[in-house]
Amino acid sequence: DRAPQPEGHPRILALANQKGGVGKTTTAINLGTALAAIGERVLIVDLDPQGNASTGLGIDRGSRNCSTYDVLIGEASLRDAVVPTAVPRLHIASSTMDLSGLELELGSSANRAFRLRDAIAGLNNNVSPEGDYTYVLVDCPPSLNLLTVNAMAASDAILVPLQCEFFALEGLSQLLQTVEQVRSTLNPNLSIHGIVLTMFDSRNNLSNQVVADVRQFMGSKVYNTMIPRNVRISEAPSYGKPVLVYDLKCVGSEAYLKLATEVIQRERDLRAN
Ligand code: ADP
Ligand code: MG
Repeated sequence: DRAPQPEGHPRILALANQKGGVGKTTTAINLGTALAAIGERVLIVDLDPQGNASTGLGIDRGSRNCSTYDVLIGEASLRDAVVPTAVPRLHIASSTMDLSGLELELGSSANRAFRLRDAIAGLNNNVSPEGDYTYVLVDCPPSLNLLTVNAMAASDAILVPLQCEFFALEGLSQLLQTVEQVRSTLNPNLSIHGIVLTMFDSRNNLSNQVVADVRQFMGSKVYNTMIPRNVRISEAPSYGKPVLVYDLKCVGSEAYLKLATEVIQRERDLRAN
């Protein structure tokens, strides 16, 4: 059974970390797929001009006629930009390189930080046969720019992927500071959903040390589930498939299914309190 959602209000989670290559996009794709597999109705919003989430879900560049750029610039509704993926109950609003120019184009226009929030607000009004989305996952670019600020202003909570490597904690305090700033100015409801440790290698002493440090520093904010370094996870995007479709039985798929269960459990706990 699913966590109950108030009618018309998806839970909006942003995958954020200003470092590149830590597993934001991989987590957006595979947590999204795992949530959909459990029965949630999920929309991934690709806010990275690189468009890796879109490519990784098999949406080729030629078919991105309407993108998150068109939505944020105000020329399309989010509903217009959404396309289904090969995974049932998983949809995506794709991105294109245009998105990298958005910050300049919006200049100092009013509501420049609320473009995504306002676009999502109109999303669940027209009930589709499949029903409304229960989760929106926003895949952020590797930067604390206007795109990431839009994601934070629109979200209920952020989910931070941290790679199990030596510099994992470096940059985290800057990220948390940005979250504080957004909370005090743009979005008082923003919280940290959790920190997910990625590319964990149990045979590597450094990896184990990083896990211990992060758990000590961030306590219960860190999910119990860790995503192992797994070659199947890194192969899947080149086939345009989530790892859960590419190889359901591999340890990477198992980990993302466990993470989805934990995310849903945290949602239940939040609601109960
Ligand atoms: P980000 O979106 O934060 O820049 P990505 O999700 O694109 O990071 O991941 C960076 C690279 O690492 C990609 O090539 C991806 O396939 C690979 N990768 C991510 N997670 C894992 C993992 N658990 N095991 C192996 N490779 C991974
Ligand atoms: Mg990415």
